[in-house]
Amino acid sequence: MSRYIATRAIRGANGLVAEADALLQEVIAEKGADTPVAFPNTAYYLPVTLGMLGHEVTNLSDLVPVVDHAKKLLHPLPDESLWTPYLGETLDAGMATLLAAEVIEGIRFALGEQPEPYPGLQLAGATQYSGLEDGHLNGPIDDIQLRSWGIQLVDGRMPGFAAIVGAARTNEAAVSIVRELQRRNILTFLCGNVNGRSIIDQLHEEGVEMGYDTYIVPFGRDTISAIYPMGFATRSALTFGGLKPGQWRDILLYNKFRVFAFVLALGEVDDLKYAAAAGAISYGFPTIADTVIPEILPTGVTRYEHVISMPWNEIDAETEEERAAKLVQRAIEVRGVKVKITEVPVPVPYGSAFEGEVVRRADMRIEFGGKYSRAFEYLRMVPMDQVEDGKIEVIGPGIDGVEVGGAMDMGILVEVAGRKMQEDFEPVLERQIHYFVNGASGVQHIGQRDIAWIRISKTAAEKGFNLKHFGEILYARLHADFGAIVDKVQVKIITDPELHAEWLEKARQAYERRNRRLADLTDEAVDTFYSCILCQSFAPTHVCVVSPQRLGLCGAYNWLDCKASYEINPTGPNQPIPKGQCLDPEKGYFTGVNEYAHVASQGTVETVSMYSIMENPMTACGCFECIVMVIPETNGVMVVSREDPSMTPAGMTFSTLAGMAGGGLQTPGIMGVGKFYLTSPRFISADGGFKRVVWMSSFLKQTMAEEFKAVCEREGDPDLMDKIADETVCTDVEGLLQFLEEKGHPALSMPPIF
Ligand code: SF4
Ligand code: ZN
Repeated sequence: MSRYIATRAIRGANGLVAEADALLQEVIAEKGADTPVAFPNTAYYLPVTLGMLGHEVTNLSDLVPVVDHAKKLLHPLPDESLWTPYLGETLDAGMATLLAAEVIEGIRFALGEQPEPYPGLQLAGATQYSGLEDGHLNGPIDDIQLRSWGIQLVDGRMPGFAAIVGAARTNEAAVSIVRELQRRNILTFLCGNVNGRSIIDQLHEEGVEMGYDTYIVPFGRDTISAIYPMGFATRSALTFGGLKPGQWRDILLYNKFRVFAFVLALGEVDDLKYAAAAGAISYGFPTIADTVIPEILPTGVTRYEHVISMPWNEIDAETEEERAAKLVQRAIEVRGVKVKITEVPVPVPYGSAFEGEVVRRADMRIEFGGKYSRAFEYLRMVPMDQVEDGKIEVIGPGIDGVEVGGAMDMGILVEVAGRKMQEDFEPVLERQIHYFVNGASGVQHIGQRDIAWIRISKTAAEKGFNLKHFGEILYARLHADFGAIVDKVQVKIITDPELHAEWLEKARQAYERRNRRLADLTDEAVDTFYSCILCQSFAPTHVCVVSPQRLGLCGAYNWLDCKASYEINPTGPNQPIPKGQCLDPEKGYFTGVNEYAHVASQGTVETVSMYSIMENPMTACGCFECIVMVIPETNGVMVVSREDPSMTPAGMTFSTLAGMAGGGLQTPGIMGVGKFYLTSPRFISADGGFKRVVWMSSFLKQTMAEEFKAVCEREGDPDLMDKIADETVCTDVEGLLQFLEEKGHPALSMPPIF
């Protein structure tokens, strides 16, 4: 343990705790002790404080014991001559720093000073549901966003996060470092400054899109905003790890072993940054600095370095870009982040972090599909001898003949062959085209099938991106991600009008065939369901049982996906579950499912009903798209979507409800589900089905209007949607009952749900 680091971290901690203490007293005197304190859109109060101390902060007076606790963690500075190297005191200083930083941010929220104003900034992914405001930095990540990233964090698409503190040497270096992280799908959190200049300013000046959609989250321009990544880490343990507030040791260990994160300290490291780094170390997150600082190397108790110095100017490289690549690579090695990158031969940066990029009309070189043209994509299986692996053809005119900002018809025909390929996997692979194409920076993909809509930006076109590159992307990614079922891939990009019309027709026939196949695919029609235990890395006892009529609760895995995934990786997270004997066709009890659930949940779950919310309902991790919950007074259920931040008739918001629904436990009356399960004939069919829905977030009503219309017709009550309330009608039980009676909702006259 370096005395230098210990001294500076302890000094930084002492300073910040004193600052928090003084500020708190001043604000209490001025505003009153019961002034509310809250981070927005979270059920976890001030998350680090909640996790570490089990203490729920709701007003200024609740902060007093937090500061007191932080004071207890302070130690005197190491003695000049007599100093026993002791990591513990430095780590205490780190925790004290985090508590004090959270107290200060809490006070700033109480004063309306957070999220930090940033004139002119527009955040990618700021929607009416995200709680983000234009002209402001991000502030803490809300629970909804945390959960929506959850699935990517568990399945490894998102390997971890990097917290960048400070500012890079040059704007070019800043952009290069962030691009290196994006390329690997590592979430990037930005905080702090060096002499008043922050990496946030650097990226903003360079026109880099920041926000949830691009995996770059600008928290704040000062060091203490580094508390937000730690809050994110703490909530991950609470949300996905099933840990309880106050289990601080377990929360730290959870992060150490399951959350792959590191700190990049760019520029000069002052006392406060040393103190914050010590806080990060207690979570198991190492710090990599681009300046000369003492290192903390592995000791008997740790497996990796805690602090690494990699001075920017000494990195052996020709360009800023290469230096950035080496710095990021080193950070990844130190922390042992598991990263898989597929090299895709396109002239623009490529990676999942670019999936959320938007190409605005003004920046657009050309579009395919949308209002002025038609684009389709069709993936089909063909015999082995009809595929020439790697062949990419552009059939018809290229984009050069189209004026800037124009549109043209285009079709993407992907033909695959493989010994393990099945016709059932066609839609599974075809759906990936969306993600694969979107991964190219400057290319935007929306929709699927014959309503695909693709844009290429001027920047991408200037770099040489053209039609052939769609084929390159699909070829590389299909082999990389689906190599186990796909042996050969060829791609035809069709712009020739006659051929386009011909293949559009063929594609439509195939879509039609698949629709019929899906409609026939009922739970009775198959003898095997599939499990998904992907989320067990976060929620150790949770199992999704996926049947043709009930998809996984995250919405990302349906029965066909699981079947394909099992073929791709026979020892992976999706295993076949032979249904076995059907014990109760109404409630959906099967011997095979029960046996599997018992083993896979480590004995937590003995019996699972596939079709009931009231009796032995399926468990949930944290990734559900919606929560279904019984409202006893109405004899029905409400459905709250993850996008809905409003109050519900249950007296709780989605965030609070999520704490009850998740965690891998069976809780009758509440269940996390995928939104397409709502449209299934098997949706809580044992309890009366869709007619039980008395309240539903308007977000779902709007985004799935077509689907629900069909469901209501199927249920024999075509006007049912109009009888279902939402948050714009009422958010309490009295209002709900009144509305249901006015509308004559069927649930009121159904048999008691209990
Ligand atoms: Fe997690 Fe279930 Fe989705 Fe699998 S299907 S990733 S277990 S939520
Ligand atoms: Zn999950």
